[in-house]
Parts: sequence; structure tokens; C-alpha cells
Amino acid sequence: MNEPTLMDKVVSLCKRRGIIFPGSEIYGGLANTWDYGPIGVELKNNIKSAWWKYFVHEREDIVGLDAAILMNPKVWEASGHVAGFSDPLTDCKECKHRLRADKMVEEYREASGDEELPKNWAGEKTPADDLMYYIKSKHLTCPKCGSGEFTDIRKFNLMFKTHQGVIEDDSSVVYLRPETAQGIFVDFKNVIDSLHLRLPFGIAQIGKAFRNEISPGNFTFRTREFEQMEIEYFLPESMWQEKYEEFKTASWNFFKNIGIKEENLRWRQHLDDELSHYSKMTFDIEYKFPWGWGELEGFAYRTDFDLASHTKFSGQDMSYTDPITKEKYTPHCIEPSFGADRTVLTALLDSYTEEEVKGETRVVLKLDKTIAPVKIAILPLMKKDELVEQSRSIFNDLKKHFMVQYDETQSIGKRYRRQDEIGTPYCVTIDPETIEDKAVTVRDRDTMEQERIKIENLVEYFKEKYSR
Ligand code: ATP
Repeated sequence: MNEPTLMDKVVSLCKRRGIIFPGSEIYGGLANTWDYGPIGVELKNNIKSAWWKYFVHEREDIVGLDAAILMNPKVWEASGHVAGFSDPLTDCKECKHRLRADKMVEEYREASGDEELPKNWAGEKTPADDLMYYIKSKHLTCPKCGSGEFTDIRKFNLMFKTHQGVIEDDSSVVYLRPETAQGIFVDFKNVIDSLHLRLPFGIAQIGKAFRNEISPGNFTFRTREFEQMEIEYFLPESMWQEKYEEFKTASWNFFKNIGIKEENLRWRQHLDDELSHYSKMTFDIEYKFPWGWGELEGFAYRTDFDLASHTKFSGQDMSYTDPITKEKYTPHCIEPSFGADRTVLTALLDSYTEEEVKGETRVVLKLDKTIAPVKIAILPLMKKDELVEQSRSIFNDLKKHFMVQYDETQSIGKRYRRQDEIGTPYCVTIDPETIEDKAVTVRDRDTMEQERIKIENLVEYFKEKYSR
């Protein structure tokens, strides 16, 4: 049997430890849907909070928003999604496996090192004939069955369509939003008018987005329902380059701050012909996933495309008048757009560690303390009444300040292993001596060193540890 890969190990750890489960599992699942379990939801919330704190609370020039997922369908006409949000699709004639033709090209180039690109290469916008010519001339094959026979390429719109209300006709069509960004653009005026903000400023939003992806996969990397963390930063045109640089640094630092190893991150600039219809410049932050580099954040300069387009389609003037200079213009916009689920996956893969300890393999998630799902585990050494009582009292004190887990099941070794596997930075053990000396043992996840700390000093001790 083949050795399990890093990805196999992380997927199995996620299931075993309540981090991520396959969706609707008791009904055989629903392809590539995933549920965050009790530990996973804490990790994801910590990542979203770290992002919100860094980009919203710690800045004076960014405010938040939580817009509706269902929007007037005209929004998606104005944004260009109805006409242009599609991927080139082809089917394997042998096994009927459905593939994205542009991704086949990218995967082939990544794996083979072949630098040649299809004629008129523009990512998913490459003309179908050029993609097919490339696929045939390079003898690309189906990853499922190895056949080299594919159907003609056709365009497939990625938006999920549904109906609002009881009548299912064309007039009731609504879409599940494919990005959170448009909720921000349509509320631009409301935010300006209610908060009297002066440009430049940004609006941030975290929320679900839906795309009917042709080939979802690689665990939570590409799913049809996912969460984005997006900022639209509005500015006069003259300022975009300066702010673009500022946000490039801020984006990189966000990943650094949550502990992602910098050697596994890189910037990749989109080629001119690869740019989306709205973008003049795009850089992605990519992570070195086990299968190759993959996008974590897309950062586009969207010009004044969106507000100008909404002015045109809605008939409402989305321009801005500077309160001091009285200059009137349609704001330009830069957009750092992060994936919450991909960041969770990155944190898991990046922190997964196996160590040899006394001849045994210790699995540890060396997550940054700020995002660790459980901050402190309280572990009474035995289930004796006085130990349990003392442990409960420590738990009650600490839980007011930290996400704490109380665990008295199984042997102490098994409990340590469980906490290591979910990345808990500190375990507190309460032993018979505690009753005498009013002190506990604190074990550090990474060094496994143990320290004896007085109970009365515990809250301060951990506040200091978590002070960053
Ligand atoms: P890709 O090229 O991987 O399809 P994209 O360029 O379409 O991504 P954007 O539209 O820039 O992605 O979306 C911003 C972010 O949202 C991405 O960087 C990614 O983190 C996240 N994201 C996009 N699509 C998905 C998806 N299907 N599943 C999970 N996260 C996604």
C-alpha cells in the first residue's frame, strides 16, 4: 500500500479530531461539501477574527459590512457575472470526467516544467480552439482514466441560480452571490451617507460565496460553497499605486502574523491577458500546497469599473464629492480578496508536524497561538473528587479569559496526544500535589517542557503568554 501523503494525514486528522467532516455523510455525502466540526469552527472563527481585527479594528480607514447573499439579479448584470463569469469545460469521452480546460493546461505546465503556453493564453478566457489545440498537441490525458479524447470545449456559467418566492419563472430568478464584493459596491452610498467618510477608505466583509465549480477538489481548497474575506478600498485614481503597495505588505503580514511560514508563500502577478474583465493589475498570494502552488488571496486593482457600472445599470449616481476640495469623481478601487477556507487549510497543512518522541511518533499541529482552537486544556491527573473539584475551579477561572477545554477522560498520555493533535498550546495538569502546594504543571505544546505554576498566578501567566 502507498504511504499516506501529507494531505491524507491532514484529512484523516480533521475527521478524527472534529475539525472538518464530510458534508451530509450519513446520506453518502454531497460531493465536496464539508462541515467544520467543534474544533474546526473555533479555528475558522479565530482566523476570521484575526483578519477582522487586523484589517478593520486596528485601522481607522476600514469599516465592516454584512450584506445579504441574495441580491437583485441586476447586480450580476452590472458586475459582468451574467455575461462573463464562466469557465471552459470539456468532458473525457471515455469516463465522462468533467474538466476545466484552462486548469488542465496549468496543471500540465506545473508538473512537466514545460513553459510553453497556448496561443492567445488568457487563463479561463483563452479561446476554446487554442486550448483544445494545446491539449491535443501536448497529448494531455484525463487524470481519472488516462484517455486523450475530449469533447469540444463549451462555456459554463458558474453562478448558482434559484428562484425567489412561489412562482418559478424567469422573473423570479435570483443568484447565490459568487463573491461578497458586490454587496459592498451596492452599499457604497449608504456607508458614505451614514458615516460621512472621506476617501480613501475601505469596506470589509466576511461571508459565504457560491460558485458551481466544474472540478472542485483537494479537500476544502476548491468547493462550491466557501467563505471569503474581502475589502473594497475606495480611492481617487491618483492614489491607487501607493495604496496597492501598502496593502500588498499588509496582506503578506496577515499570513505571517497567523504563523504561516513565509518560505511557503509567494506573490504571482497575473499576465496582462489573464486579467479579469474589471482588473488593470492583479497579484495573488499563493501557498505551496502539496499538489503545487495555489491561490490564497487575489488582489486586484478594479479601477472605477464597479461603481461606474452600477451607476449605469441602476440609474443611481455612485460618484463621490470630496467634502473639502469639492472635486466630484467615481472612486477607483483596490480589492484584497482572501479565502477563509483556504486559509484554514493552509494553517492545517503548514502546521502539521510529526516528531519522534521516545520511539513513538507524536503528531502536533504547531498552529500559531492566536488561531489555535483551544488555548488551554485542563487535565486532572485522576478522577478523584478533590482533584476534579480543584480542576473545575481552575477551569471556571480561566474560561472567563480564554477558550479552555476540560478533559478528564482516558490516560494522561492519550489526553496530551489529543491536545497536541488539535494544536492546544498549553495543557494544565492537576495532580495530588496540587492540593498541598496549590500549584499545577503547565506543559508547552512545542517544547513539551513542564513548569510548575501557582494557581493564583495562572490567569496572569496565560495573559502574558497570549499578550501578542
Ligand atoms: P481560482 O483561480 O483558484 O479559481 P479565483 O481567482 O477565481 O480562484 P477569486 O475570485 O480571486 O478566486 O476569489 C478570491 C479568493 O476566494 C481566492 O483567493 C480563494 O481564496 C477564494 N476562493 C475562490 N474560489 C474558491 C472556491 N471555489 N473554494 C474555496 N475558496 C475559493
